[in-house]
Amino acid sequence: MSDETHEPTKRLFFALDCAPAQRKAIAQWRSALQLRAGRPVPAENFHLTLLFLGSVGVAQIAEICTAAGKVAVPAGPLRIELDRLDVWRRAGALVLASQQAAPQLLRLVYGLEQAMLPFRLEDAPKEFRPHLTLMRDYRAPVPESATAPEFFLRADRFVLFESHKGRYRALAEWPFGGA
Ligand code: ATP
Ligand code: MG
Repeated sequence: MSDETHEPTKRLFFALDCAPAQRKAIAQWRSALQLRAGRPVPAENFHLTLLFLGSVGVAQIAEICTAAGKVAVPAGPLRIELDRLDVWRRAGALVLASQQAAPQLLRLVYGLEQAMLPFRLEDAPKEFRPHLTLMRDYRAPVPESATAPEFFLRADRFVLFESHKGRYRALAEWPFGGA
């Protein structure tokens, strides 16, 4: 959102976090690809974006959290299959994507999009395509992999992250049912 009043802002997005063991496994698998193009996303930043908010005035963050807290969450943990290595040319990203998005994940994202309508001045969100970015500025063909990707991102909460100078910081999180 614009800050014509020069109010301090933060760059925010909602995402599912990636557990440390999973990060390690994915980073190891990525190393085995021996990539020579692009900029690797640090393993500690691996995540699955649900909704990008962009620049938000800090005064709005409390309201955003209140609205996020009203979003219907999945009844239990989500297990999202990341089973496709793909290059998104326009974004210049090498991603691990989900061939088939779980309906509970789509419902969560839809709920968040609705809840965040009052806070987003930018364009409507792009079509949601679940993915975990492995490399940025990647302009090369899809690499050959000896072992097909078969990762499951397990999430029992969703998180509001601040992105600042290449690092992410969790500002708040909302557990799913049963967590
Ligand atoms: P950097 O931009 O510093 O290289 P980054 O892309 O990880 O690092 P951000 O640009 O803050 O950091 O992005 C945070 C998350 O939001 C990432 O998942 C990114 O793909 C997503 N994102 C960033 N910009 C947009 C956008 N305009 N639309 C949708 N998602 C976005
Ligand atoms: Mg970026």
